[in-house]
Amino acid sequence: QAKRGAPQSFALYEPGMLDRRRDDDLLGRDLDNAVAGGQLEVRYQPMVDLATGRPIGAEALVRWRHPVRGMVSPLDFIPVAERTGVIAEIGLYVLEQACHQALSWRRASGGDFYVSVNVSPRQLQDPDLVADVLATLDRAGLAPQRLVLEVTESAIVDDQVAIPTLQALRAHGVRVAIDDFGTGYSSLQYLTRLPIDILKIDRSFVADLIGTGHGGAVTEAIIRLAQVLDLGTVAEGIETPAQAAELRRLGCRTGQGYHYAKPLTTADALAYFMTSQADTAVPVRS
Ligand code: C2E
Ligand code: MG
Ligand code: MG
Ligand code: MG
Repeated sequence: QAKRGAPQSFALYEPGMLDRRRDDDLLGRDLDNAVAGGQLEVRYQPMVDLATGRPIGAEALVRWRHPVRGMVSPLDFIPVAERTGVIAEIGLYVLEQACHQALSWRRASGGDFYVSVNVSPRQLQDPDLVADVLATLDRAGLAPQRLVLEVTESAIVDDQVAIPTLQALRAHGVRVAIDDFGTGYSSLQYLTRLPIDILKIDRSFVADLIGTGHGGAVTEAIIRLAQVLDLGTVAEGIETPAQAAELRRLGCRTGQGYHYAKPLTTADALAYFMTSQADTAVPVRS
């Protein structure tokens, strides 16, 4: 009869974990061909001015249309791409697409929209990142002021490579947002010295804004902190009118979430931005 050991002695051999690892290896192999094979798609989730509901920009979110598995979530393949290093290629692909789309929204509607692009920790270690971003903006013809890069707190805190990289990009006018703010480990004193412009309030706090949990208090604290540090705030994952109203009351200016729009295809995003401006703006012709 098998002896019963401490639960943790079995943890290393859990079949689920081994499957997961083997699966990640398979995904990693397929991922090498994803960019060249045209299997990546970028969706754009509008970000709106909470006071008016009008769009001011969009976040680029990558999708992988795997030939056998169908759509694979970035939550599943970005960590794999980080490990194999192919994230460098994926990141530049998304950036290039995003910059071109941002320009097309502007050309088609006359609105002054920006695009926000996620940058993973490994990309921030790439010594070519600054030159690559500037070259991409240049090729697309997009002003650096129209680009926001989203990074995580843990990727930049105390990092001797990431911080000067972000400083250099900001010197050119690119803005930097901390994604999922409030979920990383925060040293508030350190935050005052980070090269950042925007705090993105994590979806978990917004989800808990109205209920009995601490979401409301944490959200309010983040908004006040941002005001003191002269940073912008963007609330993620707004799903209801009540959450939007509460965020407005607390002084948050910008938000995104299913209540306003889901991540949209390139064509739908263009239509969305054009419609949003149709009644007020004169299109830029160039
Ligand atoms: P994130 O940057 O925090 O992006 C927000 C996620 O929340 C997106 O998931 C978005 O579709 C989802 N979302 C937006 N509004 C709502 C809402 O109202 N309710 C709920 N429940 N969810 C909402 P998605 O697209 O699956 O992306 C997941 C994560 O994958 C992103 O989190 C980001 O960390 C990463 N990611 C996505 N695209 C890229 C990329 O191009 N590069 C890198 N490095 N990471 C990416
Ligand atoms: Mg993001
Ligand atoms: Mg986020
Ligand atoms: Mg998030």
